[in-house]
Amino acid sequence: GKVNMDEFAMGSTSESSYFGATKNPWALDRVPGGSSGGSAAVIAADLAPFATGTDTGGSIRQPASFCGLTGLKPTYGRVSRFGMIAYASSLDQGGPMARSAEDCAYLMNVMAGHDAKDSTSMEKSVDDYVANLDNTTLNGLRIGIPKQYFNVDGLSNDVKVRVEESLKKLEELGAILVEIDLNMTEAYVPTYYLIAPAEASSNLSRYDGVRYGYRCDEPKDILDLYKRSRSEGFGAEVQRRILIGTYALSAGYYDAYYVKAQKVRRLIQQDFLKAFESVDVVAPPAAPTTAYKIGADLTPVEMYLGDIYTIAVNLAGLPAINAPVGFDQDQLPVGLQLIGNYWSESQLLSIVHQYQQHTDFHTQRAAIAEENV
Ligand code: GLN
Repeated sequence: GKVNMDEFAMGSTSESSYFGATKNPWALDRVPGGSSGGSAAVIAADLAPFATGTDTGGSIRQPASFCGLTGLKPTYGRVSRFGMIAYASSLDQGGPMARSAEDCAYLMNVMAGHDAKDSTSMEKSVDDYVANLDNTTLNGLRIGIPKQYFNVDGLSNDVKVRVEESLKKLEELGAILVEIDLNMTEAYVPTYYLIAPAEASSNLSRYDGVRYGYRCDEPKDILDLYKRSRSEGFGAEVQRRILIGTYALSAGYYDAYYVKAQKVRRLIQQDFLKAFESVDVVAPPAAPTTAYKIGADLTPVEMYLGDIYTIAVNLAGLPAINAPVGFDQDQLPVGLQLIGNYWSESQLLSIVHQYQQHTDFHTQRAAIAEENV
């Protein structure tokens, strides 16, 4: 089946869809997150046991967090992107969304691996994710808690408390919590919001109304054709990003913005690699808040700041998983994110699987889903 999402995967609420907003099954006045909001909503409403999503800056993990699901963003290159519409090609990665880590493992067994049709998919042996579900020993597992991540402006207290409780639970199961530094945190949003729009403006240039994409009615001349096809064919958020990206790539600004962002991107990756010298996984929330109200009308910058916990993972190409870990005072799901080193999908799924053997957050259903059973 086909589900709703933000136009061209740009957004965090699924409201920027051509087809209108999607409702969060946990509270019908809330968004399901985005951009893979429809995927998350159908699972949370019990209309489907699993779905796929693409994650360029959090679009699997954040909707999974908002809808109380498990969602895995694999290492860049683990899953083929053949057939996907490219958003930001150096960040895009597909992955599974489901109720449990176990279900995600079954999906990964089918999805992971090399595909000659996607030159970025790696020729690297694939784990048996299902067979490995119990293989990571929690006893002595070192979980890094980035100090900077828990001092972010706008982190809701309920989210902080639920995440801390989940970390305590993992500690009870044998893990060791280690405070770490990830010093580049402030650079995440500006870096991502230069690189992603730059790549998007290039990818979307094929929608010219001539060879590809929507074409306006009765163009007067070639300029009118381009102008109207691209302004009628793209929504406001997509146009905003094309403008930002084209600006960042234009002669005279390229070095100041795009090249600089690429250098900062490398520093962000190095920050993580340094962390993985002393810990096995890093554990931030998936999002600073629970699901927003539909129509909350966040400014673009407010919305972009909500991506603070997810986008660095894509900039570094790392795998990360969201696990449901409880509810806020409005009974909206809260998510814990675990970020692993390259190719550690088995480990991430195994940690969450064992957590899920000792908790029941992933088995809880929204009231509307009970009606669908
Ligand atoms: N919210 C982020 C954005 O708007 C991430 C989207 C994604 O992963 N597709 O770009």
